[in-house]
Formats: sequence, structure tokens, C-alpha cells
Amino acid sequence: MSGFSFTLRATDGAARRGIITTPRGEIRTPAFMPVGTAGTVKAMLPESVRATGADILLGNTYHLMLRPGAERVARLGGLHRFMNWEGPILTDSGGFQVMSLADLRKLTEDGVTFASHIDGSRHMLSPETSMEIQRLLGSDIVMAFDECPALPASHERQAEAMRLSMRWAQRSRDAFGDRPGHALFGIMQGGVERDLREESAAALRGIGFDGYAIGGLAVGEGQEAMFGVLDYATALLPADQPRYLMGVGKPDDIVGAVQRGVDMMDCVLPSRSGRTGQAWTRHGVVNIKNARHADDPRPLDDACTCPACRSYSRAYLHHVFRAGEMISGMLLTWHNLHYYQQIMGEMRAAIDTGSLDAWVARFHAERAEGDIPPL
Ligand SMILES: [Zn+2]
Repeated sequence: MSGFSFTLRATDGAARRGIITTPRGEIRTPAFMPVGTAGTVKAMLPESVRATGADILLGNTYHLMLRPGAERVARLGGLHRFMNWEGPILTDSGGFQVMSLADLRKLTEDGVTFASHIDGSRHMLSPETSMEIQRLLGSDIVMAFDECPALPASHERQAEAMRLSMRWAQRSRDAFGDRPGHALFGIMQGGVERDLREESAAALRGIGFDGYAIGGLAVGEGQEAMFGVLDYATALLPADQPRYLMGVGKPDDIVGAVQRGVDMMDCVLPSRSGRTGQAWTRHGVVNIKNARHADDPRPLDDACTCPACRSYSRAYLHHVFRAGEMISGMLLTWHNLHYYQQIMGEMRAAIDTGSLDAWVARFHAERAEGDIPPL
């Protein structure tokens, strides 16, 4: 495909350092993608998200098709222009969110019909409509439409969902067509069942995609089970194409995934926890609403160069959170996204020099120390 390519620059164990080239700019991998659900990374200006070091954003098909509508976004020049983000955008297929509607949806071979959580109106998502909506949005990296079954699920149920997803993957590939400069990623399913993961990977490779996602993880199976799957799953995918682990995660999940050969990840966690008063730092989680911070003139993390840490005290962050001021969510979200991107940048540098194991050992040691003691 012209205009979209992946270059592997270095490896360190199973970990990989690379560059995804798109017409809208380069994505340094391993990459963390902040989530801009409804056309905004909540509480952040796009230029602020860029300043944290993000190369690419994720947008949600389900939310954008319902409000403001994909046709409207297309008429207004596409999602990049609409939300003022010039860099690459990856959109999910809508499948995951539709599946989580539980009793509000109906699943058939053709696709899923569902009721909008906003106004109850009826909608249909299928491989074909998902490809069309993602095309209207102007997404650079399009995800195949899939079914991710809720856990716990039997082997039989997982097999059924995975095989439906593979039939939908072929239909997604057919409907996507040939779109130079745009990429289509297939999604591996199969839960924590190794035989199903192998079958799914073989099916996807047979169809052929520009990149491969690992779906159906980080849905409640726990970190140990997730790492157990990643230990073999990344090697089932082509070495010369990007691998994307969907919906991950906490900083230690991300570090473990990179060690196991994952190139891309996304999660709402850093932005969502920023709005609920939780800061992720190299010493673990800091709950800013805790009274211990009320008189503390020190920054969240004296080694962090984000605006929240450079210019504000824990006492101030505590105060604005308690007072319900909007700047609280803004500053903590900025800090969290900055911290996530800092981790990614440090891991990329460590892979370049073959020192990822040493970096990971320091990462865990700093977390084990815990947050700085109160004054
Ligand atoms: Zn900071």
C-alpha cells in the first residue's frame, strides 16, 4: 500500500522499536494512543495532546456515528479538520461498544442492530457499514468489524465468536477496498484459548491486513492471563507489520505488553483518571483528593516536566479538585498523558540501545518505593 508503511528499526528480546509512516505523519512505536472518544481527548486541547508527545489519536466509531453523525463529519471536512488534529487518527470499528450494550442489541450473521444510548433510535453496524462510517470520518487506520464476547465465556462460545469475527474480517477487507494512504487492521480474537488464537491469526494472515490487533484482552481476565496470551500471540502475527493491543492499560500492563512485542496501545485510563483525581506517576498512583496533600507545596512528581508538575503544588491540585474546578481535570489529565508518553519514549530509547530489561527493572523499583511520604 502506498503512503502507509511500517519500518522495524530495532529489537530487544521480543520488544520492537519502529516507525509507522502515514501521509499525516510518522508514529513512533511502541506508541500509546490517547482516546478522543467523541472528537476530543476530554479536558485537553489537541495541541496540548501533541505537546505530551502523542503521534496518533483514537476516535470511537460508535460515539461519532450517533453524535454528531459520520455524514455530518464528512460534510464538515472529516474528523481531522472537525476536531483540529492534523496527525494520524485510528478509529475502532464500533464492535466492542455495541457488544457492551448487552440486551439493547441483536446479533446476526449480517451484523448488529442496536438502540442508541442517547435517544433510543435504532441503528445497524455490519462490516460494510463500519467500513463506510470509518471512511466518512477520514480515519487513517481503520479497524475491521469484530465480535468480542463478554467474559467469562466457554471455549465453544469463544470459538463461535472468533469464527464470526473472521468471516466479518474478510467482509471488512472486501468492503474497505483499495484506499492508498489508509490502512486496515484485522483483529485477532479467541480469548485466552491458545488453539483459537492460532486459528484466528492464521485466518487473518490468509486474508492479509496492513496491521494486526489483538482483541479480546483487558476485558477482565487479569494481567497474568493477558501476559500469558501475549507470550505466544504476538509471534503468531507477521513480524514486518504493526501489532496493536486494544484497550491497554495501566502503566505496568503497557510495559509488559511492550516487552512481549506489542507496538501500539490505547486506553482511556490516563484521561479518565485525571478527571477523577488520580495521577499516575513513576511512584504509582497519587490520589490528589487525599487530605495529606492539602498543605504540600511540592509538585506531584519533581522529575516530571508537565505543566501540572512544573507550575503547581500538590496543595493547589488538591484544592481545585475538592472545589470541583475544571482546571483540576485539565492539569491531571495533562500530567497523566505526559507520564504515559514519557514511559513510551523511554522504552523506545531503551530498545534502541538494547537496555530494555534494565529500564524495566528501574520502572518496577521506583513503583515499589511508593509515593513520597507526607511532609
Ligand atoms: Zn507531571
